Amino acid sequence: MTIEYLESIKLLGMKHYGFGPEEMKKIKVCKSCGAKSGATETVCSTCGELLSNKTLYDEYKGRHVYCKNCDTVLAKDSRFCPQCGHRIEKLEVE
Ligand SMILES: [Zn+2]
Ligand SMILES: [Zn+2]
Repeated sequence: MTIEYLESIKLLGMKHYGFGPEEMKKIKVCKSCGAKSGATETVCSTCGELLSNKTLYDEYKGRHVYCKNCDTVLAKDSRFCPQCGHRIEKLEVE
């Protein structure tokens, strides 16, 4: 697999939420080279960089609004979760 291929997968996931939370929780992305690793890995197998303990899902949640009820990542202006219908509270900005 090429880096471009992995990048395109990553972008797809970010843009279209191509894989679900369960998948994202199993993945870590190397900040240095962009390679994907398993959530239990501590060092990137491609470049040897130390991986953070955050999974792709943690990173994703850190940058997006998500439903507290079902963990679905939402659009910024969502009022209700499209997945479970949970009402989204006024956004808490950290
Ligand atoms: Zn790497
Ligand atoms: Zn929900």
